[in-house]
Amino acid sequence: METADVVIVGAGIIGLSAGYWLAKAGAKVVVLDKGRAAQESSSRATGFLSLRGEEPLEAPLALAAERLWNTLDEELGYPTEWRQKGRLWVALGEHERDALDEKYRGFLNTGIPFERIDGERCREIAPSLSPAVIGGIHTPRSGHANPQRTTQAFAWALRDRGGAIIEERPVTGIHVAGGKVTGVATPAGDISAGVVVVAAGAQTSKVAALAHVEVPTATVRLEACVTAPLPPLFDVAMVGGGLSLRQTRRGNIHFNGGPHEWVDVELTEEPAKPNTPILRNIARRLAELMPGIRDIPLLRSWAGVLEVTPDQMTILERLSDPDGLIVASCSGHGFGMAPSAGLAISELAQHRRTSLPIEALGLSRFSTLPRDWKARRRWEPGRYNT
Ligand SMILES: Cc1cc2nc3c(=O)[nH]c(=O)nc-3n(C[C@H](O)[C@H](O)[C@H](O)COP(=O)(O)OP(=O)(O)OC[C@H]3O[C@@H](n4cnc5c(N)ncnc54)[C@H](O)[C@@H]3O)c2cc1C
Repeated sequence: METADVVIVGAGIIGLSAGYWLAKAGAKVVVLDKGRAAQESSSRATGFLSLRGEEPLEAPLALAAERLWNTLDEELGYPTEWRQKGRLWVALGEHERDALDEKYRGFLNTGIPFERIDGERCREIAPSLSPAVIGGIHTPRSGHANPQRTTQAFAWALRDRGGAIIEERPVTGIHVAGGKVTGVATPAGDISAGVVVVAAGAQTSKVAALAHVEVPTATVRLEACVTAPLPPLFDVAMVGGGLSLRQTRRGNIHFNGGPHEWVDVELTEEPAKPNTPILRNIARRLAELMPGIRDIPLLRSWAGVLEVTPDQMTILERLSDPDGLIVASCSGHGFGMAPSAGLAISELAQHRRTSLPIEALGLSRFSTLPRDWKARRRWEPGRYNT
């Protein structure tokens, strides 16, 4: 039987980051994926690290991620295209400005420098913004990177340090004996390990259920696209008009937006990820936000499926029942959080504890969650989240 110190289920950015830090520390680590590495959410993300001022439980781990991002290229030895150019939320019209005011109040006292700015200042930061933008919130912190390059960087660096990634190897069982994890089952045979990390993105709840652990998540499909390259227009990570957008090193505008469709996923199948007429909606929003580029062609579109936790914050915990099971679900923020979330997982796997600030991110915060929480919120397959 194959053996490892740690088996990681899922070669998305969380599993690859955890695997990298573990391999660097000298652990024998095997990362398994049902398909190709990073073929799911991680390579489909927009690429923001957002310092989560509005989500105080997660903010400390996001700040730790920011520190790691700033030297990640040197750490991994491969480029991620990380740019710490700040984040700008903009409001188109009074209604959105009221929502931003509310958001801004939540950002005060987070220790992160957020500034409430008017429309003119927004256009100084991003001159292509519409005159209809009447205000925003800006922070010089936060940043963005290239999702494909970053996941590739983690994967290559993991292998450079002696870790293994096995693709097309779905996990179909988690073995537990005497209250402890002992390994995983796959169609190609078992792999024994004293620690199993569940970092299976949209399938995290299904995989954790193999060890009789309930991880509350709902799964959702998001659509995204990229324009033809343009001259430099803005360098912040921008949120506005229902979109998240960044300009890539090559000049393309990479953006995603809603509405998002709640969907079901299966344990080992690739979730369906069609594009739909929603794309027209997303493209229209870009034209409203930046009218000067409304005629630029779209080069490529795609969709991704990710998991959302009930409070939309990360779950990251090493469980005691069963001992040796680590659960990691980053609730739609996993790309930005990956450096610190992966390091935390690596420390939990080796030492049972971590120096990273994850105390507030345990599963027990959902112990009183009603069983029908998804129905109550209408987070059910076939419905849309606008
Ligand atoms: C359009 C879009 C935009 C986004 N933008 C951002 C952003 O700007 N910033 C941000 O922080 N986040 C963003 N996200 C969210 C981010 O992509 C995810 O939170 C992050 O990629 C999660 O990483 P992961 O490794 O947990 O999951 P994934 O990348 O989904 O990887 C999980 C892996 O587990 C594998 N797997 C599943 N089941 C099994 C099994 N049974 N056996 C073996 N392997 C299995 C899957 O094949 C997959 O490769 C975005 C997501 C989308 C779709």
